[in-house]
Amino acid sequence: MKILLFDIDGTLLNSGGAGYRAMTRAFKALFDIENGLKGVTLSGMTDAVIFKNACEANDVAFQNHKQAEFKKIYLEFLRVEMPKPNPEKFMCPGIDELLPVLADIPDIYLGLLTGNFTEGARIKLDDFGLNKFFEFGAFGDDNSDRNLLYNYAIERFTKKYGLIPHGSQVWIIGDTPRDIACAQPHNAWSVAVATGSFTTEDLAMENPHFLFNDLSDTKAFLQVLDHRA
Ligand SMILES: [Mg+2]
Repeated sequence: MKILLFDIDGTLLNSGGAGYRAMTRAFKALFDIENGLKGVTLSGMTDAVIFKNACEANDVAFQNHKQAEFKKIYLEFLRVEMPKPNPEKFMCPGIDELLPVLADIPDIYLGLLTGNFTEGARIKLDDFGLNKFFEFGAFGDDNSDRNLLYNYAIERFTKKYGLIPHGSQVWIIGDTPRDIACAQPHNAWSVAVATGSFTTEDLAMENPHFLFNDLSDTKAFLQVLDHRA
């Protein structure tokens, strides 16, 4: 079996700032602070950590119940922001060809490993019709520590399919150094792709097992899956 865990933002798609705008609007609704997300790193972070960092950046006290409220309001705004036509919103190169090919290979299982809240992930993917490819995954509301999300994804996989994979049967595909770091402690394969906010050179410094400018070469991607430890 081969388990592929995909990141969302910068890897499968670019929301054209919909996530950022929805978070900014939620932060304003909650604290009456404009541009609350300004200067806060989004890529590679879990949504919960983004909120926490925004609280710190704006000198407001982080509280769990505030985070729950933020999540609720953010998801409402994301449902509005995501479908808006926007020239900067796009599916990453090659994804529309790659996913159907992978989905047709019997021993390949496609999942998600993302810092997005579960519902946020589904809203973003739904805009591009991509939810059907991903039946399981780990999300930002499972744990705010992205490094711990791997175990959630594998536990869900095992529950769903009754199979227990070894790390060498898992590929983690993402656009940031944090995605690469996720794979390391589990001896999973890291596949870095420079379609997000990091360049190929940036990502190369993190020593991923495989590195692509983008995922438009389906054949080259399939070769990555033939690798053996
Ligand atoms: Mg990403």
